[in-house]
Amino acid sequence: MSTIAQNIEFLRKQLPNHVRLVAVSKFNPAESVMEAYRVGQRVFGESQAQELVPKAQLLPKDIEWHFIGHLQTNKVKYIIPYVSLIHAVDSLKLVQEINKQALQQHRIMDCLVQIRIAQEETKYGMTLEESVSMLHYISVNNFTAIRICGVMGLATDTEDQNQVTKEFQYLTYCFHTLKNTFFQTSLYFSEISMGMTHDYPLAIEQGSTLIRVGSGIFGERAY
Ligand SMILES: *Cc1c(COP(=O)(O)O)cnc(C)c1O
Repeated sequence: MSTIAQNIEFLRKQLPNHVRLVAVSKFNPAESVMEAYRVGQRVFGESQAQELVPKAQLLPKDIEWHFIGHLQTNKVKYIIPYVSLIHAVDSLKLVQEINKQALQQHRIMDCLVQIRIAQEETKYGMTLEESVSMLHYISVNNFTAIRICGVMGLATDTEDQNQVTKEFQYLTYCFHTLKNTFFQTSLYFSEISMGMTHDYPLAIEQGSTLIRVGSGIFGERAY
């Protein structure tokens, strides 16, 4: 069995039924994606439009591609035909563009709202208050081509497990707050995307439904 296949098996053993594994294949070649595919992995994450599009065109059509990175509005139209979930919606401007392009391409686009939970300044994402205003705007203005399916966040890159746990707890709190405010009757609003290679066990403990693991499957990335 290949290392990639072994890593996936190892992760699967730790996943409760309600948690899905997003194999983050960014910077890894199509052949590595195929190694994971051959042991049944179907959900893959990419963070750049120019990398996702050629991979999606080349690789099997039953792969579910997730866009996990920061998405620029001018890239939206290129990825819409290929992605099944956009993880990191972080502005009203972006949501408007996704809705517009999805309408034009006759798709309904599933999206998560990225909430800023880390201490680090550089991480993208909205505050809970900003996401409330955005969702209010969306609900009033009838965005018919997008479906908000939950929240996503990145914890601080630190050894301090307590801090990471608190940040994941806060994301779960945001999920419930938004659910109660806007999505009480929605069947779709159900996802909490949190946890990466170094912190996914904590994320699962705190209620993650989607973990995004890259180097833990494919090895360290060569940028
Ligand atoms: C790259 C990336 C990951 C995967 O990171 P690893 O540490 O390699 O598991 C997860 N989420 C996002 C948003 C990423 O950009």
